Amino acid sequence: MKRREIIKGITLIPFGGTILGGMLPNGSVAAQPAPLVKRDLVKELGIRTFINAAGTYTAMTASLMHEEVLETINNSSKVFCMLNEVHDKVGEKIAKIVHSEAAMVTAGAFSALTLGMAGILTGTDQKKITQLPTRLEENGMKSEVIIQKSHFDGYEKALLNTGVTMVPVETAEDVDRAVNAKTASMHFLNCNALEGKIMHEEWLQLAKKHNLPTSIDIAADVPPVENLWRFNDMGFSFVALSGGKAVRGPQSAGILMGKADIIAAARLNDSPNGRTIGRGMKVNKEEILGMYAALEMYVNQDHEKEWKMWEDRVSLITNAVNKIDSVTVTVSVPPIANHSPKMKIAWDKNKIKLTRTSLGEKLRTGEPSIEMISWGGDENSIELTVFMLSKGEEKIVAKRLKEELTQALA
Ligand SMILES: *Cc1c(COP(=O)(O)O)cnc(C)c1O
Repeated sequence: MKRREIIKGITLIPFGGTILGGMLPNGSVAAQPAPLVKRDLVKELGIRTFINAAGTYTAMTASLMHEEVLETINNSSKVFCMLNEVHDKVGEKIAKIVHSEAAMVTAGAFSALTLGMAGILTGTDQKKITQLPTRLEENGMKSEVIIQKSHFDGYEKALLNTGVTMVPVETAEDVDRAVNAKTASMHFLNCNALEGKIMHEEWLQLAKKHNLPTSIDIAADVPPVENLWRFNDMGFSFVALSGGKAVRGPQSAGILMGKADIIAAARLNDSPNGRTIGRGMKVNKEEILGMYAALEMYVNQDHEKEWKMWEDRVSLITNAVNKIDSVTVTVSVPPIANHSPKMKIAWDKNKIKLTRTSLGEKLRTGEPSIEMISWGGDENSIELTVFMLSKGEEKIVAKRLKEELTQALA
């Protein structure tokens, strides 16, 4: 076949009932671009979607990105860049926003913890970077991290990934006793701060006394927006934040911020560098840029107005259900993590034949599907938050709750 005929052959392949744009069979150029065949894979694969009245739960895909973030992702997907240059430029911008010496986008807060820890252990020593996570002591690295007993929540696994072991303590005296030549750092879990005996400032003083670096996990701890810089201002050596929770960045992104030497070392332990523990924690350019766009939007948004909107949603839902026999509504705000109004709707089980689990299931299988906090807690109540609702969804949540609670009246 001659070249011209091959081209003809290709242009004649029907696609979605139309002929692809480009050259027409007679050789002229088509005036109209071919219509894009829009696919909705969520629908096509039959994946359940729902109204999220639960919160920024990872298993529920946590949060929805703003249009501007999606636009950033889309635009940057059309060009090549050097990944390290994207990291450099975005890191510099983020560091300014969060008052840190340096910052980098990571594959979630979990990776931020692992990479920050790796940075502390290896510094810029290439040999140590390659040796991680094995035989830390043999290879001249420190190997122990001090942590309060009440600060174990499972996410310390991110630190353990580097090969360190955790040394639990309760009091300042425990810290003094625990410090030895193998101690690498002191870690703090912000959301459990109130459960521990040692608060931030004292933790930092103890670290200073023993000349140790400090880390803090604040993954789900904005809002308030000030928490973005509060712990850098306090002097923590590195801070780990989730990007895909209330900041509404890409779900698989996060931010590591802190001292310049630690971030530089963390970068060396990360993708695109091979032979590193971070090679599998790759973040693509689209999400690095998307994370920055989301952070900027989050910092610039009107937080008071948003809080007022949440309160209005809470009132609307409260008014829909609180006149139903035996129903009571209480609203609380968790002091640290997931800091937004949380509603608890409770009832008398003799009057309303529902359990937390059964109501959760009715809402989940209803139309449209709604997810609330239908696990844990006590059986004669259900809990929900309103901060992940899209505009107007509060009305649907209120209506469905009223329907189910009324129907179950004995
Ligand atoms: C969500 C969370 C993490 C993990 O954050 P990712 O961004 O999902 O990696 C770590 N620590 C705490 C306390 C969290 O709540």
